[in-house]
Amino acid sequence: MFRLARITIFLAVILLFMLPLVFGQVHKAVSGAGWQWPAHTDGITYIPVCWENPTGWATETNLVKNKIASTWQSVANVNFYGWGACNAASKGIRILITDTRSNSGIGKFMDGSKNGMELNFTFKNFSPGCQAENRRPSCITTVALHEFGHALGLIHEQDRADSTCKTEQSTSSGGLLLTAYDPDSVMNYCNPRWINDGVLSALDIVGIQKLYGARRAASPGRVTVVDSLNIASGQTWEHIIMEFGSNKIRRDFALNTTTKSVRQSWTFGGSGKYCYKLWSNTLYTNGKYYEGYGEGCWTLEAGKNYTVEIQFNKGTGQKAFDIVLVAPRS
Ligand SMILES: [Zn+2]
Repeated sequence: MFRLARITIFLAVILLFMLPLVFGQVHKAVSGAGWQWPAHTDGITYIPVCWENPTGWATETNLVKNKIASTWQSVANVNFYGWGACNAASKGIRILITDTRSNSGIGKFMDGSKNGMELNFTFKNFSPGCQAENRRPSCITTVALHEFGHALGLIHEQDRADSTCKTEQSTSSGGLLLTAYDPDSVMNYCNPRWINDGVLSALDIVGIQKLYGARRAASPGRVTVVDSLNIASGQTWEHIIMEFGSNKIRRDFALNTTTKSVRQSWTFGGSGKYCYKLWSNTLYTNGKYYEGYGEGCWTLEAGKNYTVEIQFNKGTGQKAFDIVLVAPRS
């Protein structure tokens, strides 16, 4: 790898080859520059991923997707998305499943390249040591970890000029060094643990965060709803149940002439669409009893606190009230 991001124009697609410890050494790497993919205006780098030939590989493609989500994507401000079948116009990282030495293009230069990455799922021809069913899944995910390092713009660590491991070096090239030399990198052929046992090293994390920024924790938001007894209109008792969010958490509002107002809050994770339902029973001083129902959805932003008012409209269905939660205000 190289942890390299360089300003020169990339002239050719350079495929970096790997798995030296399993398959012997092939060093085609280096002298290519890795270059990170551009960030969106929200600061996050979105990279589409698709499979050229996914049919029949549901288990394996999911293994790869989950591995990348739990490694590179969990530490850097990068979102890989899509992961469906490629079409002729697909952009981003296009992965061919093929029984060969796994390899990948580098960073943004592979954007939209047909077969821009090749991953081996069978190991029938190449790396038969990974063929056994008890080894195959970890071989698939471990190799994918390395190849996605290339896809993010990293090249081989052992090829740095200051590498202390010369035995695995191919032509050394310049570039942007993101960290001190890292013998534990998943991008280092000299690491005695093959691809660092499929775990990012501490400096792998520092390096990728320099290129893309550290992943921000999803800041929780909160929705607060207040229900107050309308004594002026003759309400003496009210019970509301409200359900909110994908996990459908229910909270109660139990009001009477002693407890005239109740406030309930729900937290939510990231930005997105959240839905609610609520049911009400209300008793009036004249002994009349009414039921109400309402439901709806809001688009909420992470990290914001919203307050919401409950509004009762005359019912159009079998309930006396149609309950509307007026749009939340942050
Ligand atoms: Zn490599």
